[in-house]
Order: sequence, then structure tokens, then C-alpha cells
Amino acid sequence: MKGIVFDIDDTLYCRQDMLVQAAETVLGVKVPDWREFIRIFYEKSDINMAGLESGEISTHDINGWRYNETFRLMGLPYKPENGGEAADAYLELQSHMFLSEDMKTALDAFSSDPGIKLAILTAGESKHQWNKVVMLGLDKWFSRENIIVTGDVGISKPDVRLCRLLENKLGLTPDELWMIGDNYDKDIIGALVSGWHSVWINRRLLPPPERRPDVEVTSDKELTDVLMKLFVTDPSAT
Ligand SMILES: [Mg+2]
Repeated sequence: MKGIVFDIDDTLYCRQDMLVQAAETVLGVKVPDWREFIRIFYEKSDINMAGLESGEISTHDINGWRYNETFRLMGLPYKPENGGEAADAYLELQSHMFLSEDMKTALDAFSSDPGIKLAILTAGESKHQWNKVVMLGLDKWFSRENIIVTGDVGISKPDVRLCRLLENKLGLTPDELWMIGDNYDKDIIGALVSGWHSVWINRRLLPPPERRPDVEVTSDKELTDVLMKLFVTDPSAT
């Protein structure tokens, strides 16, 4: 038996493109270096995650602040109201979010295999993350009881208790579990500390960390290829 636990943002779907696109629409300029833009935006995201999870700050407000900070640090021309406008544009884009066909094929294969259990571990505000579950149609492959939103349980990634919670839910041991995620410090460290296997999606080509995941991929295509290779024993059945 194997358990595959997915992060949502930038794992099951690509959020980075939407964040950059929203900024470009509002500012009316092309972001010169999208990797640097995302690096700063995500660095700012880590600062307020606790407030977001507790519901003290709304996702919209915090995104407005993150945008303005990123505009400022990248030297992009902006007015104070642009942060909030970009947050609005991003929310609008998110309402059309979708899974790639390759990801759907992979999830179809995993969910029809009795030897595989699927789960989700996602960080953020409860309502916002559950909306994504609905918008992406994730109910088709993941049972609700196997979806953990950190905002609901009051524990933040990479706390090892989140992994223990999933082990209990799925009835699996650490060596039977795989974490699939894009955030090295949150998703991968949590898995490494818990004795799980892991696949790290390193789209921004960050330098190799000291403690390595089992597998590292740099694109969505490579991710679904690797997942199929790792978890589908009979590819002709899909
Ligand atoms: Mg993520």
C-alpha cells in the first residue's frame, strides 16, 4: 500500500503564472524576471502565514500587501492601490483555475488503484483553500476526510504533527507515504523529518538543498511523468 499526499498551490495546479499575470494586467508592464517576482512574493507570503491560518487577516488583504512589497522591491512602477487591484485580478483568475490533462490522467490512474490512497495537505485560510478544492473539482479523486487544510487544524507546515495526522487517517507507515510539493521548507522538510518519501517541484531552479528529496522535477510535464513512473505499475491500464 502507498499513500500519495499532494500540496495544492503550485503542485496540483500552477499558481505562479496567475500571480504574475495579475500583476502585469494591473501595472500594464511585463514583469522582467518572473522567477525573482515569485521568489519575493513567496518570501513575503511566509511572513504572515500564521495570521492567515488563524483567520486574523484575509487572503485578499495579505495578497494586496504582498503585491505592493514585491512591486517595491523589484523597482516596478506602482501606486499604493495597485496591490489591492492585483489581488482582485488574481482572485478573478483563480476562479478559472484548472488541472492539466496530464494531472487528471495521473489522478484517474491513482484513484482507480486499490493499492494507492490519496490525500491533500495544504496551507492557508480554511475557506480560501476549500474553495480551491471545489473549483479544481478535487472531490472527484480525494475524499474530504483525507484533505487537511492547516487553517482548520491550527498547525502550520512543516510541523511533523501534520504528517502523523495523515499517517493515522490513512493507516499507513512513514515509509509508505510520499509528499508531493513545491515548497522545499514547508512540504519537503516536513516529509524528510517525518521519514516520508518526497517529490520536490523546483520550477524556479533553486540551488540544491543539503537534505535531498527522493526526486526533484522542474516542470509540470516532468512532474506528471515522474508520478506515473513511480506509482503506476501497469501503464497499459490507463
Ligand atoms: Mg505549494
